[in-house]
Amino acid sequence: MSKPFAWLKKFGLLLALGLASCLSPAQAAFINGQNYVPFADWARANGLKCFWLKRGDEIVAANRTTRLVFDKDSRMVEVNGINVALSFPVAVDKGTLLIAQLDLNSAIRPLLFPPRFTDPKRITTICLDPGHGGKDAGNHTFWRSEKTYTLALALELRDQLQKAGFNVILTRSKDAYVELPDRPALANRRGADLFVSLHFNATPTGKNEVEGPQTYCITPVGASSTDAQGEGANYGSTAANRVEQRSLLLAYQVQKSLVKNLSAKDRGVRRARFAVLRDAAMPAILIEGGYMTHPAESKRIYSAVGRRQMSLAIVKGILAYQRLVSPLPPTLPSINRPVGTNKVSIPKRAP
Ligand SMILES: [Zn+2]
Repeated sequence: MSKPFAWLKKFGLLLALGLASCLSPAQAAFINGQNYVPFADWARANGLKCFWLKRGDEIVAANRTTRLVFDKDSRMVEVNGINVALSFPVAVDKGTLLIAQLDLNSAIRPLLFPPRFTDPKRITTICLDPGHGGKDAGNHTFWRSEKTYTLALALELRDQLQKAGFNVILTRSKDAYVELPDRPALANRRGADLFVSLHFNATPTGKNEVEGPQTYCITPVGASSTDAQGEGANYGSTAANRVEQRSLLLAYQVQKSLVKNLSAKDRGVRRARFAVLRDAAMPAILIEGGYMTHPAESKRIYSAVGRRQMSLAIVKGILAYQRLVSPLPPTLPSINRPVGTNKVSIPKRAP
């Protein structure tokens, strides 16, 4: 059970076990400074039917095209098969799911109902940011450094994006140290339309168990980051918050593509105020492409074929995002086709 739930238990809100309808009448509540509202009301107003699964452990809200799954012990919600971190844990009161209004506004609504952006600028230039470099090696396992593989992935991804018709700029193209603020600053200066930072994870424990990509975008104002380490909810607004809904959509589409195309374990879309994200003026994400410490996943990271698979999955995610927000698809070669006709094939397994 995640730590954030300790306080919920204290407040006696996790009372409802067993089968119960999440349509029971409930009142809005103020919990730990957050305004919580009955999710069923919002779901009903938006054409979703709400019901409990697994003897009261999971709540589903669904219609013909959408399926949300809330787990009362997790702050992750599954949105059409992909995990998305909420900023605050859901609560259950008298058999009814309560959700923070902030999460409805900053996570659920923008993903289910992507807003019509008033200035839908066509995506032409993408800034890739290979994590670390020079004196900053990033994670390492034995003799392998993260910085080597983030650069290798970025160079492969650059080639794939260029084939798809995008202009690509890199925050570094060799083993050089670049200060964190200089990375989004370059993207801002060059007028990039998207910023994509590339990293790989490592874990000191559970090397055989912990695997899978995760994709970050900026934390909403008023919330703590998913894995906040001392950074609180009172951080305030950043440049990135001005385009946070687009960043969330981009993060979601890229995470979805990585999980589906690589058959990878889904570690979810998460929120963070990383230095490289918070100063970016354009939609910006940070991809943790997998675990260097996992025996099977590391093979994908360390092999050219594996990085090609990963790059193609990222390109597909970017193209899916583009279809949602950009009015005119660029005239691009085969990789950039409408949904369902994309002929790019991605081998399922790394060698
Ligand atoms: Zn890193």
